[in-house]
Amino acid sequence: AKNCGKNNAKLYSSSLTMQIMSHVKLEVGLRKALQNHELYLLYQPQIDVRSTEIVGVEALVRWRHPERGIISPTEFIPLAEETGLIVPIGEWVLRTACNQAKSWQRQTRRSVRMAVNLSAKQFKDENLSQIVVSALDDTGLDPRLLELELTEGTLMDDAKATLVTLEQLRGIGVYLSIDDFGTGYSSMNYLKRFDVRSLKIDRSFICGLPQDSENAAITRAIIAMAHGLKMVVVAEGVETGEQLVLLEQFGCDLVQGYYLGHPASPDVIAGMLQKAGT
Ligand code: C2E
Ligand code: CA
Ligand code: CA
Ligand code: CA
Repeated sequence: AKNCGKNNAKLYSSSLTMQIMSHVKLEVGLRKALQNHELYLLYQPQIDVRSTEIVGVEALVRWRHPERGIISPTEFIPLAEETGLIVPIGEWVLRTACNQAKSWQRQTRRSVRMAVNLSAKQFKDENLSQIVVSALDDTGLDPRLLELELTEGTLMDDAKATLVTLEQLRGIGVYLSIDDFGTGYSSMNYLKRFDVRSLKIDRSFICGLPQDSENAAITRAIIAMAHGLKMVVVAEGVETGEQLVLLEQFGCDLVQGYYLGHPASPDVIAGMLQKAGT
């Protein structure tokens, strides 16, 4: 568990020129990825600890590159943010995810909450609330089934504009979740000021459990605090049964991670929903 949360994607270090060249090529490719239908979503189940049922999913984007194969979002999302491409890509993600949630509902007669990641750039886009409204309207998804995941950094950026946007989103009726909780600026202040439904404890705290006593203390404290604020707590990156047992003891509400299910195709999720419904 020593290299918990480490990102090894950049280990293949090449010369600077090579890196710049491949960066430019990737950007050119990313510009065309949307229109060429090279992006797709996988969905990772979020499981209720007490009922053990699937109650939600998180949409996670993938890029099927024509030459390089499947590229991880850890590689192309930062590039999409730098170039502003995250705005159209993010809109596509939102629409696709809402549409998927609605079609599972039709297919399985079960409602599942859809969590969608929003990057800071998208959050700052003045059209965000319109984009969210039209994705909901066009798909017919109930706003209470959509949860937007924001990081602490996004909320801390610019207090005034942040409040306006959050107020608009609240008006629409969607839920907000703080992603990677505990790794950002963590000024607890915004938890009081903003209407946030859930906290996602970052994977880096979960991955050393149950042995790592410091991470156990932090995890337990986050859960207690969140419950004190009437928030739902999600633990992400749950990889073992022992971690699940400990999180259950700590009173964690929802769990997400390879132990419960890898990010999966719509069919696999539909199967889980059908099983859970019986
Ligand atoms: P994230 O939002 O923190 O998403 C969780 C990441 O942890 C996902 O990586 C997921 O596949 C991975 N994961 C889930 N369970 C486990 C586990 O048990 N162990 C480990 N080691 N990892 C687990 P993924 O799909 O590669 O996404 C990486 C990041 O890319 C996401 O981190 C998110 O920040 C970003 N991302 C993905 N999709 C989108 C998107 O549609 N829009 C935006 N803006 N960002 C996205
Ligand atoms: Ca997330
Ligand atoms: Ca996360
Ligand atoms: Ca993360």
